[in-house]
Amino acid sequence: MKNKNNSVLILLVVALAGVLFSCISGWVLYKNEEKAIISEFRKDVSERAESLYREVTINFETLHSLSILFDEDNIPAFTRFSLQAKKIMSRYNDIQALEWIPRVAHAQRKNLEINQHQQYPDFEITERVEQGHMITAKDREEYFPVYYVEPYVGNETAFGFDLASNSVRMNALEYSRDSGKPRATASITLVQASENQKGFLAFLPVYKGNISTREKRRKNLKGFVLGVYRIGDIFKSSALSKEPLGIEMTLVDETLPSAHENLYVHKSRTGLPANGNITYRKELPEIWGRKWSLVGSPTPDYIAVRRDITPIVISITGTILTFFIILYIHIISRRNATIKRIVIEKTKELSAANKDLEKLSRTDGLTGIANRRYMDEFLDAEWLRSIRNKSPISFILIDIDFFKFYNDNYGHQKGDECLKMVTACLNGQVNRPGDLVARYGGEEIALVLADYSDVEILANKCRQSIEDLQIQHKYSKVADVVTISVGFSTIVPTKGSAPSSVIHSADKALYKAKESGRNKVEHIYPPHSNT
Ligand code: GH3
Ligand code: MG
Ligand code: MG
Repeated sequence: MKNKNNSVLILLVVALAGVLFSCISGWVLYKNEEKAIISEFRKDVSERAESLYREVTINFETLHSLSILFDEDNIPAFTRFSLQAKKIMSRYNDIQALEWIPRVAHAQRKNLEINQHQQYPDFEITERVEQGHMITAKDREEYFPVYYVEPYVGNETAFGFDLASNSVRMNALEYSRDSGKPRATASITLVQASENQKGFLAFLPVYKGNISTREKRRKNLKGFVLGVYRIGDIFKSSALSKEPLGIEMTLVDETLPSAHENLYVHKSRTGLPANGNITYRKELPEIWGRKWSLVGSPTPDYIAVRRDITPIVISITGTILTFFIILYIHIISRRNATIKRIVIEKTKELSAANKDLEKLSRTDGLTGIANRRYMDEFLDAEWLRSIRNKSPISFILIDIDFFKFYNDNYGHQKGDECLKMVTACLNGQVNRPGDLVARYGGEEIALVLADYSDVEILANKCRQSIEDLQIQHKYSKVADVVTISVGFSTIVPTKGSAPSSVIHSADKALYKAKESGRNKVEHIYPPHSNT
């Protein structure tokens, strides 16, 4: 029962360890795979951010080539501006418009408007009201109107629009004017945009003369070359040729730490929403005063297509393998148990057979009492014990009277039966475990008695009991029934004495009994006996 419990426990431990190991292996693989996917995802977002940065930079740089026209003393004619602008835009598709924004003092406003009326009779400096439509610009000290615009078509609303009327635009303009550095605006809703698409403007200041100090830059500012860009278009143009599917990306303007603004959200082309748990933010280098970041988040299918079934296969295979190992262990342990049981059974049978054999080897086949060989061994052992204990040992030798005649007349078989009855009767006379009744030879029976006090009484009882059996023996010369003659001797053995001495004395006593008429009991004590 304990063994069974142990083997069940072992099987349970093996099962648990196997399944646990399989699952952990699967899980580790799964996690490693996830790590690899996330690092691939980060690489994808980074590459996209770099591409976006390149696209924006290239677009902005075009303003430099346009500004060269305005380095001359006089403002170039619109045709020259238009030609150069068209050339640029034919190469860079993300530009919504290229413009020239002169600085116009209030005193110059009228002249400027009149100048333009030759070609555009409706031209005026405008501003935008909150409702969205354009109105004539209010009077102010300085104006920054859109004076040249290319292309005109699509940008009609912007034509004449005073950038000074809008604080976002004006802030950028002033910074650019004062610093002499190009500047991009925060996201704005373009005046020329039909829908609410976000855009931004990039300015490049143009001066005349000395611009070494801020004061001089303010004084010598001619105006700005301006590029109008749609964020969405730039984002799309920066798409990589092998852009991975399944990434949602948001372009965030982080120039003002307190007011991050989402400029553009690129939804995954798979149409699935992104997994918000995993995001990666890649900062773009600063461009014309703007700090942008691209924040990417993968959709579930981005991860799904990159996963493979190895972790599951490992877990399942491991579990199946564990099952087979357990089955194997179970079969082996059952077989072992069966073998063990068989061995135990066989050992029991063998020891029982050995016992039987041992009993058989010391038993007389006819009478069932001890045989002569065993009697000798028994006497030897008792002899030594009696030497140690200094106790007496008695030997009774019995011989059936005229047994030859019995055999001759009643037949050998009857003789055997008679012999059996006689031995059984004699065997019944002793009952101590230390007493032995043995077939001494032929029709002679011996009794070995260790430390027996009434040997003579016993010897007489034996003789009497055989007579009392009343086995008819018409051919005996001493009685009508089977009788025995008994000779015995008792001795306290000493070192150096041999068991044969007591046998010899008993034999002599038996001879005496025969001589004195049979059916008698006689005894002889060995010469050195003190009994
Ligand atoms: P005595 O009174 O002097 O002892 O005469 P006896 O005939 O008994 O002695 P004897 O030694 O001449 O004969 C012994 C006989 O015992 C001889 C043999 O036939 C018989 N005998 C010995 N062993 C067996 C046996 O196993 N079975 C049978 N049936 N007879 C046996
Ligand atoms: Mg005899
Ligand atoms: Mg005899």
